[in-house]
Amino acid sequence: MTSPDRTPPHIAETTADVRAAVIANQRAGKTIGFVPTMGALHPGHVSLMTRARQECDVVVTSIFVNPTQFGPNEDFQKYPRPRELDLKICGEAGCDIIFYPSVEVMYPAGFRTFVEVEGLSDILEGAIRPGHFRGVATVVTKLFMIVGADRAYFGQKDYQQQLIIRTMARELNIPTEVVTCPTLRDPDGMAMSSRNAYLSAEERQRGLCLSRALVAVSQSLAAGERDLSRLEATLIEQLSASSGVELDYGVIVDADTLAPLTSVASEMVALVAARVGTTRLIDNMLLKLPE
Ligand code: AMP
Repeated sequence: MTSPDRTPPHIAETTADVRAAVIANQRAGKTIGFVPTMGALHPGHVSLMTRARQECDVVVTSIFVNPTQFGPNEDFQKYPRPRELDLKICGEAGCDIIFYPSVEVMYPAGFRTFVEVEGLSDILEGAIRPGHFRGVATVVTKLFMIVGADRAYFGQKDYQQQLIIRTMARELNIPTEVVTCPTLRDPDGMAMSSRNAYLSAEERQRGLCLSRALVAVSQSLAAGERDLSRLEATLIEQLSASSGVELDYGVIVDADTLAPLTSVASEMVALVAARVGTTRLIDNMLLKLPE
């Protein structure tokens, strides 16, 4: 909850405005934590703001539905934009500055500079959503340059995304530290997502097979299974058990590189993506071999 004496967040709609607000705080010796979002905020987003609040003096959140990361037949137009509710949630989470730019502010006419993380951007999610990670890497680079934060907070929920952003920040020498935070789940195990709002009650029930498949694999590993193909078979079986779920992929890959594996490794990640009705769901779980 907001303490009664906390001043409401400053809402900046231009780059000059957000820069001035950040610089004023940096001159006062304050550290800056940054949480980029597309809005339609839920407790998963709030968990990133809470972590930033704990670790930094000033919390900046951006709310921007980024057109360059949506494909031509994706949900850019219909993506939820509950402005007033989002601003209220940011205030209650203790954000100090909200960057709420228009498309014209982020992409002025004639914009033509893009960031591409080769190799990581065209596999898995990137193979199914061509151009998606080019849009993500470009907008996050721009936001990093605009905000100039000490640390930026991302969810493990979008595993490939956080890996691409880490790689991009390291290779472009962007001095913002990338922090990855755990996936927040509903009590039934479903990973929280703005897109869950599209699901009917029945679709949501079917979508639970993603988190159940991940739990089944991690239980199988904990029970001693070390055959990678059997672990992957468990994943696929669970994902296929639910009717009306169109599987895009269910794989176990190297957690650092997303490279395919031929046998179990010490740090793996299970990545799943499926469509339920017209809604795409993704989820993942880190799988570590006991020492
Ligand atoms: P989005 O608004 O979907 O672009 O997400 C903004 C940030 O919130 C990204 O870093 C996401 O990975 C993160 N995020 C989304 N859902 C969750 C969740 N359930 N738990 C933790 N972080 C999340």
